[in-house]
Amino acid sequence: MLDREFFLGFIKIHILYHASRGPIYGGWIAEELGRHGYQLSPGTLYPTLHRLTREGYLKGSRMVVGGKVRKYYVITEQGLAALMEAKRKIGELVNEVLGEE
Ligand SMILES: [Zn+2]
Repeated sequence: MLDREFFLGFIKIHILYHASRGPIYGGWIAEELGRHGYQLSPGTLYPTLHRLTREGYLKGSRMVVGGKVRKYYVITEQGLAALMEAKRKIGELVNEVLGEE
């Protein structure tokens, strides 16, 4: 089992990707990442969301949906630029790492 630090970049890109498709919240993204096989504790997920927000990639806002107050996150311009750059690098990585098989 690889260290979770190793996958933190993947997780961040995943978060940015989903935030680019619409507002996300912690519980939803935890479930989505679980679906992809990443078991993330709230002690890892929430600090990651907060860091991405502090660094300007996401913007958080509280919204009431179905009577529940939730913190939703949307991607910023800076986040979109980072996602585009990440996509380019992922393509390159996939070509190199999987290209030999
Ligand atoms: Zn996903």
